[in-house]
Amino acid sequence: MINLDKYSSIFIANWKLNGNSLFLKDYYEKLKVNSNNCTIICSPSIYLKSLKGDKENLFCGAQDVSSFKEGAYTGELSAAMLKDNNIDFCLVGHSERRQYFAETSKNVNVKSKNLIEENIIPVICIGETLEQKENKLTEEILFTQIKNSIPISANQQNALIAYEPVWAIGTGLTPTLDEINQVHELIKNFDKKYINFKVLYGGSVKSSNSKEITQLNYVDGCLIGGASLKVDEFNKIIS
Ligand code: PEP
Repeated sequence: MINLDKYSSIFIANWKLNGNSLFLKDYYEKLKVNSNNCTIICSPSIYLKSLKGDKENLFCGAQDVSSFKEGAYTGELSAAMLKDNNIDFCLVGHSERRQYFAETSKNVNVKSKNLIEENIIPVICIGETLEQKENKLTEEILFTQIKNSIPISANQQNALIAYEPVWAIGTGLTPTLDEINQVHELIKNFDKKYINFKVLYGGSVKSSNSKEITQLNYVDGCLIGGASLKVDEFNKIIS
């Protein structure tokens, strides 16, 4: 298992359904990993193995995993298969999975548990919708998602939390810096179990706001979607 404590910040690129072999080769050549930070690229699963090069402090992450361990589940990839391919991280419960693939916090819990058993670090994503925010339900929604999505076996060494307000993903909108810091503080204080968990922020992070966000007291890094697809922009974020 990767020792997360040795890094000052953690940056995760979520390529979603983007990229191809040529893109990947060019990206890898131009990527400048900073040794103080842990950098994780979540490419589509089929490309994960080709991203395994010799750059130190660069890791691969899957974007999802099956909740099943093996059997007649066409199209699925198990946690054990990811481990077999030396994958160290996996996003779980991204809002796009929750929204378009009807993934529930219960599914997220099982997937995270299976990943932890294989020594893969789940990046457990939580976040409120705009409607929930406007109805002042953020705290309640996050608490419920945390309670139901994070398995008992998770701890600050073997799991990460990503706070991604759904309304900030891919929209160019972000909460204020104070709001981000306050929500992260809230998450870490939901229960003493979470106090030392690393919590990453995700939602319209780009090079022009990443530094201020990463420097917030309760923020341990960022999860980056759109901006991670441009290697020069991603290099600025992780530098
Ligand atoms: C994401 O996909 O998790 C994400 C945060 O996307 P974006 O950075 O494009 O908002």
